[in-house]
Amino acid sequence: MRLRVLGSSGGYPGPGRPSSGFFLEHEGAKLWIDAGNGTFGELQRAVDFTRVDALLLSHIHADHCADVYPLHVAIRYGVGGGFKLPLYAPPGSAERLGGLLNPGGADQLAEAFDFHAIDAGDEIEIAGVRFTFLRTAHPIHCLAMRAETAGGTLTYSADTGPEADLAGFAHGSDLLLCEATYQDSHMGAPIHLSARQAAGIARQAGVRELALTHVWPTLDPQVSVREAREEAGDLPVRWAEPGAVFEIGHP
Ligand SMILES: [Zn+2]
Repeated sequence: MRLRVLGSSGGYPGPGRPSSGFFLEHEGAKLWIDAGNGTFGELQRAVDFTRVDALLLSHIHADHCADVYPLHVAIRYGVGGGFKLPLYAPPGSAERLGGLLNPGGADQLAEAFDFHAIDAGDEIEIAGVRFTFLRTAHPIHCLAMRAETAGGTLTYSADTGPEADLAGFAHGSDLLLCEATYQDSHMGAPIHLSARQAAGIARQAGVRELALTHVWPTLDPQVSVREAREEAGDLPVRWAEPGAVFEIGHP
């Protein structure tokens, strides 16, 4: 599998730093994971969006899903021909997303998307990639995702505080793409992790590589990487910088 970072800014975007979004490829599969603001434009550098097999949303916070709105405009008015993009998201997402549109917004979105509810405990396969999910410690229904193929395993933390068993869920992954909103000197409520906490989880999970995402936009990601490396031992740590590509496992 190959993961391209479309955006990795936590909470809101910074200059040249879109909010959360990732493009995952495996053989013919093309999967878009989270659609934070700014990621739809970046996705189009990598792929014709009508060739995407599915969009998966971890949760309905704007910095992970706001580009569903321009995407639905692109599909409804720019594609036609009955094209619909499969959209996997936690239960109730169509209604939540539709609330920002006209009355009947969920129906409007249903003209562009085929909604599929996903939840913790589900095991699904999309275009040859097997997905499982973990409910995270976050104020709304949020799902970490584990994507597996014969060649490798990616675990994406989505947004979470330290209460969730992310280490158990990520066990043995080739890459843990983990949120690292905070730094040692900028800690907040336990609905997110610090870079150091992310590294502790990665070590406990025995993953092969750690990528830090969802770094708060006013914080220097290099400081996050340094703090994570102090905790990570021999484990390689990188910032999930926009445009970065991660090769996961073996082809
Ligand atoms: Zn969130």
